[in-house]
Amino acid sequence: MELPFAESYKIKMIEPIYRSTREQRVKWIDEAHYNLFNLRSEQVYIDLLTDSGTGAMSHKQWAALMEGDESYAGSSSYYNLKNTVKSIFGFDYFLPTHQGRAAENVLFSILVKEGDIVPGNSHFDTTKGHIEFRNAHTEDCTVDEAFDTDSYFPFKGNVDPEKLEHVLSKNKGKVKIMIVTLTCNSSGGQPVSMENLKEVRKVADKYGISVLFDSARFAENAWFIKKNEKSYNNKTIKEIVREMYSYADGMTMSAKKDGIVNIGGFIATNNQKWFEEASTFSIMYEGFLTYGGMAGRDMNALAIGLDEVTDSAYLETRISQVEYLGNKLIENGIPIQKPIGGHAVFVDAKKFLPHVPKEEFVAQTLANILYIEAGVRGVEVGTLLADRDPQTKENRYPKLELLRLAIPRRVYTNNHMDVVAAGLKNIYEQRDEIRTGLIIHKEAPIMRHFTVELYKA
Ligand SMILES: *Cc1c(COP(=O)(O)O)cnc(C)c1O
Repeated sequence: MELPFAESYKIKMIEPIYRSTREQRVKWIDEAHYNLFNLRSEQVYIDLLTDSGTGAMSHKQWAALMEGDESYAGSSSYYNLKNTVKSIFGFDYFLPTHQGRAAENVLFSILVKEGDIVPGNSHFDTTKGHIEFRNAHTEDCTVDEAFDTDSYFPFKGNVDPEKLEHVLSKNKGKVKIMIVTLTCNSSGGQPVSMENLKEVRKVADKYGISVLFDSARFAENAWFIKKNEKSYNNKTIKEIVREMYSYADGMTMSAKKDGIVNIGGFIATNNQKWFEEASTFSIMYEGFLTYGGMAGRDMNALAIGLDEVTDSAYLETRISQVEYLGNKLIENGIPIQKPIGGHAVFVDAKKFLPHVPKEEFVAQTLANILYIEAGVRGVEVGTLLADRDPQTKENRYPKLELLRLAIPRRVYTNNHMDVVAAGLKNIYEQRDEIRTGLIIHKEAPIMRHFTVELYKA
């Protein structure tokens, strides 16, 4: 008999979680105005709101915190992290920042100017925000397969080289950089292939533009390359990552994801001029060059996190758990986005709750029912998140209404995933009786999903 696969670590420290009753949850979600962001974390049994900053550090990372060097300038923790960044990504120049969006803010201060166009594969919200804030624009060049939830195409994060060439040839002089997001969060944690990274590099060279990698889930991306691109099956993750970054001019990183730390980020590049120019903005916005908004101890923990996240035994554990949940849902007939991505499972709420009118926030309704059923907190990626049209003030209805179940790194076991799957199964069996959703009582003019107050229709 083939030995089954198990986690690549054992548990040394635990944090109790509380399994509440349905009666308690009915009361709490009403007090939270049917917005899961308003719940206290103690009111949540299994928290799949985000995989950002919610991972569990290893014993080596906790030990490294104690050795953190809090010197203002030139700390050993800074050099630990700088050396790790060099060995994993191959970049000589490095600037720490307090998180990913801060890296964007510092780097885009020198690279993005009014009127610029920045193509990419479905830019992340904060990335797009920092570009648009500078009166520049993004162009989405993601492959068409990304928008078909039933397509099993393995690299739905890929950039379509023809779409990219079209943008570049139409906008000569306006495009200086492009951004490839690894994995592509907005299309469901979908990876970009090595072949595609090479192709993108070729097109970028032809038009003389620079390529930045938005790197929050770079290691998960490398895992999919190892799994699904034949010539990489026998390469180590670290070899794959080095090759991936040989096609980039620089990177921004949210260390809260594949850094496996609770806070942090950085910029890295081989472009000395970028480094020198960005340094001024780093000092203004983040802090001196050798800490940039991070504590020495956190830089130490991040250096180890980057080494651990690029270990294939870790990645196998990680991606298998996401797959485990996704496959359980598929077995129960629950409609999810396919193929299953790297950090989250996305439930197709419109297919799940066909009788709830789109005006009543289908995915938010499902998120609420799942919380009441099982104490599980997911997040809506649908009409609430899409906000209103700034001109007409009407709701914008996106193509997909999704309930995202993001899985924190090294935090839950597959038994927890079983609870999530059972909760959704119970709801799915009663879906024909669910005919009404939620109505807005109060909302902010932008980013309303964080603070919106709703009531039951
Ligand atoms: C999270 C994320 C960011 C922003 O990083 P923060 O650390 O949350 O500021 C940028 N890009 C991608 C792809 C992300 O997932």
